Amino acid sequence: MRQIIDFPCIPFAQLPTPLYKLENLSREIGKNIYIKRDDMTGVALGGNKVRKLEFLLADARDKGADVVLTAGGPQSNHAMLTAACAGQLGMKSILVLKKRGELTGGNLILDGIFGAEVRLVDTDSYDDVYAEMDRIMEQLRAQGHTPYSIPVGGSVPLGSLGYINCAKEIAHQAQELGVTFDAIVSAAGSGGTYAGLTLGAKLFLPGTRSIGIGVCDDPFAEIAMELTAGAAELLETDVRVNREDIHIHYCIGPGYAIPSPEGCAAVRRLARTEGILTDPVYTGKALAGFFQLLEQGAFDQDEDILFVHTGGAGALFAVEMV
Ligand SMILES: *Cc1c(COP(=O)(O)O)cnc(C)c1O
Repeated sequence: MRQIIDFPCIPFAQLPTPLYKLENLSREIGKNIYIKRDDMTGVALGGNKVRKLEFLLADARDKGADVVLTAGGPQSNHAMLTAACAGQLGMKSILVLKKRGELTGGNLILDGIFGAEVRLVDTDSYDDVYAEMDRIMEQLRAQGHTPYSIPVGGSVPLGSLGYINCAKEIAHQAQELGVTFDAIVSAAGSGGTYAGLTLGAKLFLPGTRSIGIGVCDDPFAEIAMELTAGAAELLETDVRVNREDIHIHYCIGPGYAIPSPEGCAAVRRLARTEGILTDPVYTGKALAGFFQLLEQGAFDQDEDILFVHTGGAGALFAVEMV
């Protein structure tokens, strides 16, 4: 097996991120609930995409890129963090975003602060967004630039190495705390984080089940199978994620990026018990899905469960809470 440290990586993130027990919430719920603070990765407002960008932008740099393109919704955390990281390498960012949902405030303000060029595409389909990216790439090449494109959410096998590495980090921290996690719970939006944690758990956290909470209706079981197979190939390991390793629970509400009452209730609950901000698009819904699983009896009484906080609080300043 290849070691993750053998892959080119630009250390954008402040690692390890904190991991500790949520004492108040644990008492309230009657389980041992821990949190992994990947909302504190240290770039912009933090968040999970920084770990993926450490590998993706190293690849961009090694390929001589001077412009990086990526795609997303108008409030994409991934696009904003791409601009924040690429700027540190002196690369220009072009963010090709769907002209849907909240078109002011939040991450769009931050995109401007980080100096990104934003191109809005009036479409519901990522096929159109990628076609526009291809057109821009061609123009850039004709002008003598070397563009590098990152797909939505950075969810390619190379990006998910960041979350395999996170699982390794969790294994070290768990050992220091003297706990063995029975389950880790994370949001699934484009799937790379969940895929990385799931393969990472197989490699470094044997016996820990990896649960993904889907915040949109993409087929995350299939996506995770594909991404983990690709990542295992990169790592040259025979360890494979099987269908029975994958646990997906959906908590979408009225739709992707549309706040749900249960998601917003979860945002308020974590804020009021622990002083931690989540967001109505990803982590609030992931928490709400986790609370649903707790109510359904998906966890035994004395289980130790880790919630991976993937960031996103910038959305609180763009999206109306319900
Ligand atoms: C992108 C994102 C997720 C989902 O991660 P994926 O790897 O795309 O599944 C979760 N939370 C936040 C805050 C995000 O920005």
